[in-house]
Amino acid sequence: MFDVVVDKDKCNGDSECVNACPAQVLELVDGKAEPVNMDECLGCETCVEVCPTGAITVTEV
Ligand code: SF4
Repeated sequence: MFDVVVDKDKCNGDSECVNACPAQVLELVDGKAEPVNMDECLGCETCVEVCPTGAITVTEV
């Protein structure tokens, strides 16, 4: 299991992570990325790599 956290203050809503995630974990909600499907997270950290503002952290739990 992985815990995906988006720092809403850093998120600029560009949807890079939403588009890059292979498991459709993230969605844009009110202009900010939100982990809506965390159970499906693969822990690949693609979202972390594509985020231009470093807003996402993925932690194995
Ligand atoms: S770590 Fe991978 S599977 Fe998990 S939310 Fe990020 S891009 Fe999606």
